[in-house]
Amino acid sequence: MKTRRIFLQKASLSAIALSVPAFNPLAAMTDSLTLSKDTKTLRVAIMGLGSYGTRVAEAIQKCARTKLVGVISGTPSKVEDWKSKYNIPAKNCYNYENFDAIKDNPDIDAVYVITPNAQHKDQVIRVAKAGKHAICEKPMAVNAADGQAMVDACKAAGVQLLIGYRMHFEPNTLEVIRMRKAGEFGDIRFFQGLCGFVIGDPTQWRLNPALSGGGAMMDIGIYAINGARYMIGEEPIWVTAQETKSNPDKFIEGIDETITFQFGFASGATASCLSTYYMNNLDKFYLNGSKGWAEMQPSTGYGPIKGETHKGPLSEPIVTHQTVQMDEMAAIIFDGKKPEVPVNGEEGVKDMKIIDAIFKAVKTGEKVSLNLG
Ligand code: NDP
Repeated sequence: MKTRRIFLQKASLSAIALSVPAFNPLAAMTDSLTLSKDTKTLRVAIMGLGSYGTRVAEAIQKCARTKLVGVISGTPSKVEDWKSKYNIPAKNCYNYENFDAIKDNPDIDAVYVITPNAQHKDQVIRVAKAGKHAICEKPMAVNAADGQAMVDACKAAGVQLLIGYRMHFEPNTLEVIRMRKAGEFGDIRFFQGLCGFVIGDPTQWRLNPALSGGGAMMDIGIYAINGARYMIGEEPIWVTAQETKSNPDKFIEGIDETITFQFGFASGATASCLSTYYMNNLDKFYLNGSKGWAEMQPSTGYGPIKGETHKGPLSEPIVTHQTVQMDEMAAIIFDGKKPEVPVNGEEGVKDMKIIDAIFKAVKTGEKVSLNLG
């Protein structure tokens, strides 16, 4: 019988530069990932063969139990490239018009939707109706109502909906969460999340509200929102927000450039965050508690994630985020594994409700209450 050792051997050759930490969240994560002849491989088709889709495809090559078996694309030349590069059979290749036929393809278990944000809702609902599990990139949709419709459609179809929250599987992030849960920071009092980069080409879909649903907030600010929740370990109960724009010609109506926003939590903790397309090298989390602190920079980039706490540097294994994410998602889908931080559709809807509230707070200038349950 093959064992978890095989996963670690394979991973150590590829995704993981193993150091020897006192506590190894990756090992903890993969404890239940026992590879035997009965372990099911997640056979995935990627929809949207763009920059991130390509990164995910490469990462899947190093997976222990996830396989790239199909594509859905509007660009025939990319399909030809991917067919030869990843040995994908023609029968597993679709376009945006005909992919509903995937329901008759027993060789595909799940579709990973990696297209512009505003397309996610309809595409995920079609995937669900085709009876396939859906993995969807962040932001899951362009507002909470659309996100909820996706959750409902997947429930009705009896398939799972998972959001591509790769940080939920990142070992240094999980170590900070473990320390917080163990009380090592004491009572959590404050979180700061700074997320941004200077965006280039003004003609790209990210700067077209019809395709993106918003600007930096949908794209990168969502990391600070999601991070505030998993670092503090509570749901925010109110939000205030302020917007500035250095370049209204590039950042048109419906595209936020820079938003500062603040959260309050029932415990009394607060958070102060920044989402921007105006500043580079902005990728930093800071958590403060009554007994200690954690600081991470970079905190959500592709890695390596670096940081320290009041106890010393974070030194967990360096992983390829998407490799670990996909194998963990295989375990969630097939083995019912519960991840340390959820990645289900409901988790995505919470972030969308917060984004809706941030936009409302910007518009009204008022404190907006949140009830995320
Ligand atoms: P890209 O522009 O690089 O790729 C998007 C792909 O979507 C295109 O290549 C194209 O693929 C397809 N597409 C279909 N319709 C359109 C359209 N009208 N305009 C543009 N593309 C279209 O974007 P990214 O890969 O960077 O982002 C895709 C999604 O992934 C977004 O939701 C983004 O937020 C998310 N993302 C997540 C990251 C993470 O770390 N989790 C990082 C980066 C992005 P084809 O030609 O095959 O049809």
